[in-house]
Amino acid sequence: MTISRITVWQVDLPLSEPYWLSGGRLKFEALGSTFVRIDTADGLSGWGEGCPWGHTYLPAHGAGIRAAFEVLAPALVGRDPCALDTINRVMDETLPGHLYAKSPLDMACWDILGLSSGHPLWRLFGGDKSIPVPINSSIATGTPDEMVARIEKARAAGYRVHSAKIGGTDPAVDVARITAIDAMIEPGEAITYDVNRAWAPGVALQVLNAVDARAWVEQPCETIRQCAEVAARVPQPVLLDECLHTLQDHLDAWRTGGFAGLKIKPNRVGGLTKARQIRDLALAVGWQMHIEDTGGSALADTAAIHLASATPQTHRLASWLCHAHLAVDPVPGQGARNIDGLATPPRDPGLGVTPDPHRLGDPVAVYEG
Ligand code: MG
Repeated sequence: MTISRITVWQVDLPLSEPYWLSGGRLKFEALGSTFVRIDTADGLSGWGEGCPWGHTYLPAHGAGIRAAFEVLAPALVGRDPCALDTINRVMDETLPGHLYAKSPLDMACWDILGLSSGHPLWRLFGGDKSIPVPINSSIATGTPDEMVARIEKARAAGYRVHSAKIGGTDPAVDVARITAIDAMIEPGEAITYDVNRAWAPGVALQVLNAVDARAWVEQPCETIRQCAEVAARVPQPVLLDECLHTLQDHLDAWRTGGFAGLKIKPNRVGGLTKARQIRDLALAVGWQMHIEDTGGSALADTAAIHLASATPQTHRLASWLCHAHLAVDPVPGQGARNIDGLATPPRDPGLGVTPDPHRLGDPVAVYEG
């Protein structure tokens, strides 16, 4: 089997409400997504999506994906899409780094492997059934009252796990946020306080040692080293997110020690192939994990849910669905969606999400042999 054509669409995804990350320092109103379809010479087509969470959150941006395709796509035409390790090696040799740009191409190749083998991705990732995955809300930062109201709204939509964005320059405000939220969390619910690397280590120590909460704290500071210093001196379990990119980063975090978990985002680490390697490392060292993508429609969400579903429940926390924040739905009704706080990956072969190209507008690039 060989890749005969790679077709690319730019898809703008406006959010249904503006979203503020840690301390209100970053505001998001729309995401720039890239959809890609890889066609094979014998008639199979696989889909992928790459959608950074804006261009201020990680070293990634939507247009960068399409620019990287200019060198990556010609290198893949004529290759076997089912030879995933070779596909990834070719991409790494053709363009070192730029992990986020490789993820949608890797995703489309996994879709083709699933279609050609007759298996859904959760099975190819090692699962034996289509197990529902708990999903978590993502609560934009704000005043304590605003954040409590957002969690109540998420609770009404079925969410029982929440991720609240905190982290400003005034430690007293963060103590107030955590105290107010912790008081309203009900039995059977779980919460993570996601700082999005906004604190200096000293602020993290002040806040986390002043509150009674013992919930997860995510990415309190910028670097692995800073987060480790905090993790060693606070009573809450700490997990990492933005500072983990390569497999080497994950090995460095493990060697540094002090962490109890991580967030695996295929787009951040370079695709499902690398995300699966990191998932297996996390299982081996005992980390608990959230598996979700950085952003996108139900296409990207569903790819991550396949991997989450195939991950042992003992080590799996919850997954976020970006498409719940969008004002548009390029793949209406398809894929893993929120049903009473759970998302279940499709049982169809491959990703189980097939966009209608007519909904995506005109392609912005076509690469052929
Ligand atoms: Mg995070």
